[in-house]
Amino acid sequence: MLRQFKGLIFVVLLVAATNFFGWFQTVDNSLQSLRFKQTSRPASGEIVFAAIDPKSLNAIGVWPWPRSVHASLVNALVGMDASDIAFDIDFSAQSTPENDLALEQALEEAGGFVMLAAFRQALLDGSFTFNEPLPRFAQHGDTVLVNIIPDADGMIRRYPVGAAIDGIKYTSLAALVAGYVPPQGSDFVIDYSIDAETVPAYSVIDIIEGRVDPALIAGKQIVIGASAVELRDNFVVPRYGTIPGPMVQILAAETLRQGRVLSEPSLYLEMGLIVLAALIAVLVRFSRLVLAIRVAMMITVALAFELGALVLLTNSNILLDTAAVHIAIVGFLFVGLARELDFRKILLRSTRRELTTSQGILDRVIADNFDGVVVVGTDGKLIAASRFAEEVLGFTDADIAAGTSIERTLPANLIKDVRKVLEDAEYDPASTMVREATLKRDEIDSLIIEYVVTLSRIAPEDDGPPELVACLTFRDITERRLSERRLTYLARHDPLTGALSRARMIDLINQLIESDTTRNRGLTLGVVSLSRFKLVNEALGHHYGDEVLKMVVERLRSCRVDHVARLGGDSFAFLTKGVLDDDEFEVFSTVILNKLSDIYDLEDHQAIVGAQMGLTDTHLSGTDAELLITHADMALSAAKEMPGNTYAVFRPEMDERLKEAQVMETAMRSAIHNGQLSLNYQPQVSLADGRLVGVEALVRWEHPELGPVSPAKFIPIAEETGTIIELGRWILNAACMDAVNWPEPIKLAVNVSPTQFEFSDVVADVRKALSKSGLAPERLDIELTEGVFIADPAGVIAVMEQLKALGVGVALDDFGTGYSSLSYLAQMPFDKVKIDKSFVNGLPNDQQSAAIVQAVMTLSESLGKVVVAEGIENADQAWMLNLAGCHIGQGYHFSRPIDNDALVARMGDSTPLQKIAQAGS
Ligand code: C2E
Ligand code: MG
Ligand code: MG
Repeated sequence: MLRQFKGLIFVVLLVAATNFFGWFQTVDNSLQSLRFKQTSRPASGEIVFAAIDPKSLNAIGVWPWPRSVHASLVNALVGMDASDIAFDIDFSAQSTPENDLALEQALEEAGGFVMLAAFRQALLDGSFTFNEPLPRFAQHGDTVLVNIIPDADGMIRRYPVGAAIDGIKYTSLAALVAGYVPPQGSDFVIDYSIDAETVPAYSVIDIIEGRVDPALIAGKQIVIGASAVELRDNFVVPRYGTIPGPMVQILAAETLRQGRVLSEPSLYLEMGLIVLAALIAVLVRFSRLVLAIRVAMMITVALAFELGALVLLTNSNILLDTAAVHIAIVGFLFVGLARELDFRKILLRSTRRELTTSQGILDRVIADNFDGVVVVGTDGKLIAASRFAEEVLGFTDADIAAGTSIERTLPANLIKDVRKVLEDAEYDPASTMVREATLKRDEIDSLIIEYVVTLSRIAPEDDGPPELVACLTFRDITERRLSERRLTYLARHDPLTGALSRARMIDLINQLIESDTTRNRGLTLGVVSLSRFKLVNEALGHHYGDEVLKMVVERLRSCRVDHVARLGGDSFAFLTKGVLDDDEFEVFSTVILNKLSDIYDLEDHQAIVGAQMGLTDTHLSGTDAELLITHADMALSAAKEMPGNTYAVFRPEMDERLKEAQVMETAMRSAIHNGQLSLNYQPQVSLADGRLVGVEALVRWEHPELGPVSPAKFIPIAEETGTIIELGRWILNAACMDAVNWPEPIKLAVNVSPTQFEFSDVVADVRKALSKSGLAPERLDIELTEGVFIADPAGVIAVMEQLKALGVGVALDDFGTGYSSLSYLAQMPFDKVKIDKSFVNGLPNDQQSAAIVQAVMTLSESLGKVVVAEGIENADQAWMLNLAGCHIGQGYHFSRPIDNDALVARMGDSTPLQKIAQAGS
């Protein structure tokens, strides 16, 4: 904003400052003179100038005149009945006695109506002297001040009303003549609009010698003074230039007489006017009018100011200085014009540039173009081309100069398009299409371009038909296309092995199924998973792991499959056209599995991994790509349940199991919230005396339609789907709530699944359940199976330690069913071991079971772990276990799992659990 007006503001400040120092005085003078002239008014005629003019000087012949001449003049005037006589002549020095006497007598006779001049005069040494009439003269009249003080520029504008000199007050000549002293100020501005020409003036010698009609003098006030230039009583004033001093006195007296005392407004008013002009200039600038009108408007504004000044002078006696305003307006005009000119210059330059372009620079522009540009005439000859085009298409400026035809310079596909445009009479330029072409540069290198061919009609200078010109414009998009291809490749392939990605595999299946031939023949899909691959990574490092994965892909490809994909980590898929019967599956799978489980020779190591495979085909699973993969995955899961490098072919039951699992999962989620779940507690007793020492919480699900669902069925599904986490929390809380209310502080064992250990914070859940229920930590045992140690053994041990730190016990459930050895018992921080029911089952007859039970007992005893036997179904088993040193037992022999009410009831009654003692005895 400020920038826009900086020119304007600069002008305002400059003018204001300059005006302040009075540097526009000359202009103001001219304007004032002009204004005075315009408002010219006549003098009153009552004040008469008795001029000591050249004619008078000539008549007397000497100067200063003998005072007798002045005496004669006074006498003559008195004789003609003049009312006042004022001398603007120095009578301060003595002359000859007779002459001085003559004047004194004349003054005396005049009767006190004569004014005599006194003035302060500067001496050369800087001091002042006051020249006043000799007392002998002064006593017969009034002494009046005739001093006039010029402005700094030497001009007389102001006139003093009087002054005090040496303590005596003197009135100035004009004031006394006019008989009026303005109330304010020590001086006033003389109104030069009073026309000096109209002041009656007569030569002194004519008056003395009686050549003036006495009627012209009668009753008038006479000012006597020098008008002859040689007497040097001259002053410079506005309007008139140089005029005699007495005339200045007369004009001052006339000013007072006519009540024309002028006042000059303060400098601030002038500045205000400048600012006003600036504001108007801004408005005008933004008026969006034509420049000439804007200039005219500003000139009008200046004239308006001038007119205002004139009106003020005439009507209000105000003498306004307008120079500064005018100069400011001129400044504004300059600033405005400068901007305008600048703008025009820019316009001018750009049109000029356009002109030259259309004439000669076109060739240059084409040549320098970044894109490939080739201009071709109707005859198919080259007219112009950019350097880039020459470089790519392999021709030179010489070819252009020679007008070589496009048939010899452009590749065939481009020629075709250019020709088409040139020869198609109805060609519509709006139909221009961007095309793509590949240009072979040499054997290996090729360039992909994107191009358009446009048509221009050029009007010839004469009136002939318009000439047609085709313009081929092209751009190198090789890089773009290559990087697009790279991206597509990455999206479709596994960057490590180069096998297809899962997404691409699905696309491919869909494509193949859509093509009729494949649809009829069918497709076979196999999914392969490696086992023990993790070990390769861990033992040899990822570099070797990567090598194995690459080799797996190679080996799969070598098995005459059509496509190989990597689905993730160590799982792969392959696709072959056609379907197989059972025998063929057998042969095909054996070949693949053997190949994959063969030794992998890596630089300086060898690796062995296992492989399992699931297979399906379009006849078994239909033509949905996703479903094919899902079914192959199901078959793979089935294969994984079998030991070794095995394969399984999809069977419809697998799908049903999955569907059932899905139904089960949804049902289970609602079961938690709909109160379909409950807890049963199976007592644990002291084998020695049958006393109830604890219970194991076992979840029960009563489905409204399916009836009771076995935990052996729904727990694995809950684990697979993750629902076990929410379910586990519910069980833990509910069991603790029940336990805290039991009449006997027996122990509570709660099962926690490996999934809970892997995916949730078991410690936090346990802590919450304890604090919510208020159950003492020592009363709680957490049962976990060996399955927990598969994923993250170190992590699980840490969790166990934390549980123990809380005071909670940890029991190893189903001991003996997993892969854990006896040494395992020693490494893991259990408090309790639960011998699985499969061992108890064989007792007391099965020697092997008995030996194992005995070994567990011995080791546990030495490690300080408590042993619990599960699944005790008869008294013999109980007796034998007790004998082997096992102190706690659980099983149908003592009690089936019972609900909370039944358990509480049983606690009150101490008899039924005593069975064992009888059997043992
Ligand atoms: P488990 O933890 O080993 O539980 C003992 C299972 O053996 C229970 O089966 C119980 O009813 C059964 N049982 C007890 N005494 C005898 C007997 O004398 N003879 C025979 N044949 N079986 C006996 P249930 O209740 O069907 O539970 C099966 C499995 O489901 C449990 O095995 C446990 O792994 C799991 N499970 C049950 N409740 C929960 C639970 O609340 N949380 C978790 N995570 N798993 C649970
Ligand atoms: Mg258990
Ligand atoms: Mg168990």
